[in-house]
Amino acid sequence: MHGGTLIFINALLSFLSSFAFLFAYWIQPRLVPPRSLLCWCIAYLSFAVGFAVLMLPAFDIEPPGMPLFGNLLIDVGAALNFVAIVLYLKRPRSELWVLLPAALLALIEAGYVLSHFENMRVMVGLGCAARGILTVAAALALWQCNDPSRRPVARLAAAIHGVWALMLLSRIAWWLFNPAAEVTFDPTTAFGLTTRLVLTCAITPCFLWMLARQLDAELLRYASRDTLTGLANRRVVWEQGQARLTQAARQHRAMALLIIDVDHFKKVNDGWGHAAGDAVLAAVARALAGAASDGDLVGRIGGEEFLVLPAHPGAALALAERLRAAVAGLQIAVEGGAVLRCTISVGHAETRDGSGAWQRLVNEADRALYAAKQGGRNRVVSVAITASQGADGGAAVAPA
Ligand code: GH3
Ligand code: MG
Ligand code: MG
Repeated sequence: MHGGTLIFINALLSFLSSFAFLFAYWIQPRLVPPRSLLCWCIAYLSFAVGFAVLMLPAFDIEPPGMPLFGNLLIDVGAALNFVAIVLYLKRPRSELWVLLPAALLALIEAGYVLSHFENMRVMVGLGCAARGILTVAAALALWQCNDPSRRPVARLAAAIHGVWALMLLSRIAWWLFNPAAEVTFDPTTAFGLTTRLVLTCAITPCFLWMLARQLDAELLRYASRDTLTGLANRRVVWEQGQARLTQAARQHRAMALLIIDVDHFKKVNDGWGHAAGDAVLAAVARALAGAASDGDLVGRIGGEEFLVLPAHPGAALALAERLRAAVAGLQIAVEGGAVLRCTISVGHAETRDGSGAWQRLVNEADRALYAAKQGGRNRVVSVAITASQGADGGAAVAPA
């Protein structure tokens, strides 16, 4: 393809990318660090203007130093692209040190070209080395993205940056292996521009795809988490509970659940205010989540009520006792300097063969919870359901 056309398409694509990041900044600045989107926007604008400057000779505008200026703008774009990635992925700022050697190479390039002439060997060698350092650093930062929602796309973007770095390296290699080549003309330009064009087509959608996946993950989190405690919400607990019960019924296995209610919680609100009540709920939630094991699902199903789906029904009573003790041991500092303590009552229900409906299991756990309240609170009460007999009478398990 004609060199001027390639430069024009690169400029156009970079400009469109810049606009896409500006639009992303405009519609969603809260979710991601807004400066990263602005940084990407300016990076691609810098690429676009850099390519536009390189296009000027096609219009017979050839002021001295223009190719150098265009290339330096593209270098600035590569630097800002890297900074945007560091900001977006919240990488340590210390990783920005690679800007220094890249800037040094660009300065040497500018110094040489201004004091001598536009030697393509020097411009390609130093310019591609500067951009190569930034591109490899960007690839490494993307590869190390540890957010599961973005990691697959981040790794794809890292691989594309890797290909970009290889392209830059091959241009340097061409000049190294062709020492007799005419230094006023760069035959690797068309290759560089074509590769860059393809890579921009892939990289910008990758970044926008990452943003979309991050947004999806956030929405999912909002839809499934309780905002005060961060625990699973009632919808998730109900879905999980029904699914686990269906599976238990199919395999004739036991299934247990615990319903937990904070004792005399209204007194906390009445005595210390709603904010203190919220602090107590958050502390209780942390204690429950901390005392539960992997695989136990702890959710908040109402005001000061929690539901636990134990991973091992046989160990559910022991888990209930652990949860009770963990909350009883809490000392919760609230605003005003007071330190509050609280207890929970726990209703335990179990179906030994997976029979019965989910709502029935919940009702039985509720009945056990009521018995725990009646029995003096700060305790665990258990009922077991069998298909033929209905619920057994509540058997209290007193606190240790
Ligand atoms: P019991 O031992 O019988 O469970 O007594 P209780 O006081 O804990 O029970 P009750 O149902 O009378 O009171 C529950 C209180 O929880 C009433 C309600 O205002 C409060 N509550 C519900 N949701 C929240 C919340 O999100 N934050 C705060 N601070 N309070 C809440
Ligand atoms: Mg209650
Ligand atoms: Mg209560």
